[in-house]
Amino acid sequence: MKLYELTIHQARALLARGEISASELTRAVLDRINAVDARVQAYLTLVAERALEQAHAADAQWAEHRRAGKCGETPPLLGIPMAIKDEICTRGVRTTAGSKILDNFVPPYDATVMEKLYAAGGILLGKTNQDEFAMGSSTENSRYFATHNPWDLERVPGGSSGGSAAAVAADEALFALGTDTGGSVRQPAALTNTVGLRPTYGRVSRYGVIAFASSLDQVGPIAKDVRDAATILGVIAGHDPREATSVNVPVEVHVEALIKAQDLAPLHGVRVGVPREYFGAGLQPGVAQAVRAAIRVLEALGAATQEVTLPHTDYSLPTYYLLAPAEASANLARYDGVKYGLRLEESNEMWEVTPALAWGASVRATRGEGFGAEVKRRIMLGTYALSAGYYDAYYLKAQQVRTLIKQDFDRAFEQVDVIVGPTSPIVAFKIGERADDPLQMYLADVFTLGQALAGIPAISIPCGFDQGLPVGLQIAARAFDETRLLQVAYAYEQATEWHTRKPGL
Ligand code: GLN
Repeated sequence: MKLYELTIHQARALLARGEISASELTRAVLDRINAVDARVQAYLTLVAERALEQAHAADAQWAEHRRAGKCGETPPLLGIPMAIKDEICTRGVRTTAGSKILDNFVPPYDATVMEKLYAAGGILLGKTNQDEFAMGSSTENSRYFATHNPWDLERVPGGSSGGSAAAVAADEALFALGTDTGGSVRQPAALTNTVGLRPTYGRVSRYGVIAFASSLDQVGPIAKDVRDAATILGVIAGHDPREATSVNVPVEVHVEALIKAQDLAPLHGVRVGVPREYFGAGLQPGVAQAVRAAIRVLEALGAATQEVTLPHTDYSLPTYYLLAPAEASANLARYDGVKYGLRLEESNEMWEVTPALAWGASVRATRGEGFGAEVKRRIMLGTYALSAGYYDAYYLKAQQVRTLIKQDFDRAFEQVDVIVGPTSPIVAFKIGERADDPLQMYLADVFTLGQALAGIPAISIPCGFDQGLPVGLQIAARAFDETRLLQVAYAYEQATEWHTRKPGL
């Protein structure tokens, strides 16, 4: 096995025994990036030298712990190279959110999740490509370039965290962080055969995470297996005094403890709901087949499955596409060319003669140039939905329907512990195939929007292939019940080998 292919837990075991060093590991991953990223294009920014310095420091820390015989006490990610979505602020490292309006933005501070990852020993390799301000499902809305799916370079890796998912799938990082507003961690994970976890709303601080839709945004890990995803969740979760929506509820992240080794029925007593609405028209037959087979595996592991109903499923797409743009239009008002990022100036003359006009023209030019087409579309939709006279008909109505969608899940969770289904209705599509059709693009998230609107956790794990392309199984649980979700995901993963398959790059 190549060093860059290692999972976090495999690398950690080797680091603890002194069989490899963090420097070797980091160099191996950087070499891998050099070898494949020209084709995959997962990274927007690389910080190789800085990564090697961090690795050097991690090696010193490992050596110290080994001398003291206290390897078990090293921080959980010590010496592990990672990739971070460009939506997340990294002090001293350019952070663009995939937008031209932040082309020159170097944050003066770290997001809380970065502070936590660094404290846990994580090594930053670079920042990954994404749809502009996380708006999209294919990473084609990046203002820089499209990222390619390592499983088929002519196809998209999903989005908006497509760079992060592609980096992990291509072994260009041991793990990555993404953000999930309506599916942006889970859907790219499904399309690249990786594990993507959207935590409960409030589980992870968004301080320093560039805001898209604040009632929906969550940071989540993209990893090579469930055990790694759980480890990362344990590092990034928790209350943050700087972030009012963050809460402190403990989560069990030692997944090995969640199922008994040698237990033939590790899911005995677990009730699994299969929503009728997730298997209707629009679901690709090969995807349906893989997901149905996965459900049979859960049954074989002892789970009791039953059909449940989420009657308002059809409304999640229109509800999301009113609420998310409304919030985005407010959040994006801050990009006016004054505080940070791009600024297109009017002539000095104009400033002298009519400063107010010059100011307006400057803001218009800056935003006109700085934002791409999808972002502008959302700002227009959002301001429209919030405007006087339309607020009640659109925004308020969408808020009411959001409550109905949440109640659907509440009712289902009275009968079952987890809800399973497909993550994405289709496998990875061709680059360009949906780029000009926003509605088709929005449909990529039909199965991931509901959980986000309801604020509940959900994970996508590899569950098979259709025509050589990965299929993801989505498992959702009650709010703050990541433990249950990880237990089911881990048991499934232990019983199958889909997650071990690698693209032939
Ligand atoms: N594809 C959805 C959108 O475009 C979800 C994106 C996300 O989760 N950030 O809004």
